[in-house]
Amino acid sequence: MTRVALITGAASGIGRACAAKFAQQNIKVVIVDFQADQGQQVAQELQGFFVQADLTQPEDCRQAIDKTVEQYGQLDILVNNAGFQHIDTVADFPEETWHKMIALMLNAPFLLTKYAWYYLIKSGQGRIVNIGSVHSLTASPFKVGYVTAKHGLVGLTKVVALEGGEHGLTCNLVCPSYVRTPLVEKQILDQSRTLGIAPEEVEEKVFGGKTVIKDKRLFEPEDVANYVAFLCSPEAWGITGAMQVMDMAWTAH
Ligand code: NAD
Repeated sequence: MTRVALITGAASGIGRACAAKFAQQNIKVVIVDFQADQGQQVAQELQGFFVQADLTQPEDCRQAIDKTVEQYGQLDILVNNAGFQHIDTVADFPEETWHKMIALMLNAPFLLTKYAWYYLIKSGQGRIVNIGSVHSLTASPFKVGYVTAKHGLVGLTKVVALEGGEHGLTCNLVCPSYVRTPLVEKQILDQSRTLGIAPEEVEEKVFGGKTVIKDKRLFEPEDVANYVAFLCSPEAWGITGAMQVMDMAWTAH
């Protein structure tokens, strides 16, 4: 039977690549994002369904699930991917940004999991993939909101895996190092300006400082999508509750 996947933040970057990979595998895709034009366009390209939602709002999380089920009658795969970055010291970190980050990157994955639970169990081979980061496992200064939210996903992933197992539901946390997406390209340009060095040098020295694969410092979104697709395949039936680290040995140091 055809499966249905809901991917948050799928108008861009990693989420978009995951949606494209699923569509190639004839999985029906639901693109959830707050960017309407881009989200519609991706949905159209992939013959999927678009739901505009601001996932910092619990009601929008609820509606994303309801509209998916109204459209397709089922939900088999949930990819909690939407996120953003903010760089500041703990002392200067704006409270509003903190609340928004936790709402989007920790509360929304919990709420979407909760609201989707019945359908994922009914699927019999439900899959949840949370998109974490190396910052789910390690920390960097000036990223307090991001690091905290991404660490929180470790706990969510483990509990969901423990409770879902008896229903065939798996839940994993994919933890990539830097991936070439608009989120990171903006950071490269910002750091290039701040440090007064070329973007290529930022990529090599700042972003690639801890990775070890020769000539490769950043992943492409498709690299993450391939891994996510595997975790959602029937072959990955026993892989659950785990941190799926893809970081070119960053955290091996
Ligand atoms: P991106 O900026 O390309 O995409 C993020 C998407 O989330 C955008 O389409 C944006 O519109 C959407 N979004 C933001 N706020 C939203 C909201 N309130 N409601 C609904 N949608 C919203 O970023 P990306 O690099 O593809 O990041 C995707 C995920 O991957 C994030 O969780 C990020 O933390 C994680 N990640 C990224 C990297 C990297 O290096 N790019 C590395 C590790 C983890």
